[in-house]
Amino acid sequence: MDIPPTTSSGTKPIVAYIASQELAKVSSLLPSNKRRSMMVHSLVSSMGLMSTEFSSTKRIQIINPTRATYKELALYHDRDYLDFVLDPVNSSNLGGDGGFGLEDDCPPFPQLHDYVPLVAGATLTAANVLVKNISDVAISWDGGRHHAQKSHAAGFCYVADCILAIMALKRSPPILSSLGDITTVQRKPKIMYLDLDLHFSDAVSEAFSFQNQSGTPQILTMSIHHTAPGFFPISPFSQLPDISNTSFDPFTLALPLMQGASDGTFSRIWSIVENVKDAFEPDYIIIQCGVDSLAGDPCAIFNWSLHSLGWCINRVLNQWQGKKLLLGGGGYNSPNVARAWTYLTSIALNNPLNLEAEIPDHSGFPLYEPSFTLDVPAGNMQDQNTEAYLQSVESCFENIIELIKKRLNA
Ligand SMILES: [Zn+2]
Repeated sequence: MDIPPTTSSGTKPIVAYIASQELAKVSSLLPSNKRRSMMVHSLVSSMGLMSTEFSSTKRIQIINPTRATYKELALYHDRDYLDFVLDPVNSSNLGGDGGFGLEDDCPPFPQLHDYVPLVAGATLTAANVLVKNISDVAISWDGGRHHAQKSHAAGFCYVADCILAIMALKRSPPILSSLGDITTVQRKPKIMYLDLDLHFSDAVSEAFSFQNQSGTPQILTMSIHHTAPGFFPISPFSQLPDISNTSFDPFTLALPLMQGASDGTFSRIWSIVENVKDAFEPDYIIIQCGVDSLAGDPCAIFNWSLHSLGWCINRVLNQWQGKKLLLGGGGYNSPNVARAWTYLTSIALNNPLNLEAEIPDHSGFPLYEPSFTLDVPAGNMQDQNTEAYLQSVESCFENIIELIKKRLNA
């Protein structure tokens, strides 16, 4: 793989693609996703997306990540946790956990001390690109670590890059919005975090729940995921909200789906996502594109096709107002993850690849057997989301959307 250094020049609007050899190398050591990062960037490159000629209307700009500083990481993470994971001695101490969740699915690994500041730095670099108006769309496929907690690693996640990015966007300069023809007012930016990973975005949702108690609500989190007794992660927020509960927060939203969720189910619930967006009117949209929800993932819970996922991301990127930050996340069939994020990158570049396109000959080529094409088609799993269940979701969200509007206009 050959990721060019930060590129510039040209007149077409850019899509900021955060990547570097160092980031890909370190990210490829993640125990749950070994070599995945390399595969993703290699496929994006070998399918021609890094060429300035790929799209007639947009151009990819490779931006090398800046490492997050200790101070930036400490805006969310506890110092004791940072002192442990940033110490190179602990990265190679495969026996010790230190009480920071560095065991079982989150073992220490060589270069953990580099991984944490690089992955956080990649997503913060992407957020910064949006704030500074360098681009309206930024991509950080190595980010999206939505389970990492303040003081411990969890669910294959060691660093809370999503949370740090939301915090950075929250602190960004006020938005000028016009009232009528001549009057402009300044207001704080609004950020919508939309999580498409199979698993509930527990750390992110919990970090920002009840944050909008006073003043104009600035942050809305919405997670579409599977939940069931014993299914990771366990969180009081992962269920379909009970709006009669006085502690319900209409800006911390969960939309759980049953096993086998198909394109038809996603297409049905997508109008709810659009209605939430319309009610909240975000200035920034962060989409966690974990693809363990696609058919063919070893999790084998959902049955979503890449075509349908691409349709949704195309809506967000090309029909929604606001600046967009695309993040990675879960996904344990690495060739399919590379297919998906390559396809989504081509959508961001306004030139969607043909899903029948053949995988070009490159170093990872043999891994794309047996189809050797870009597509990730749906399987034949039975969709357990019944009409009655989907109706209950729709009616719940109708009420939630009214609550969001009421709070925003209060
Ligand atoms: Zn996941």
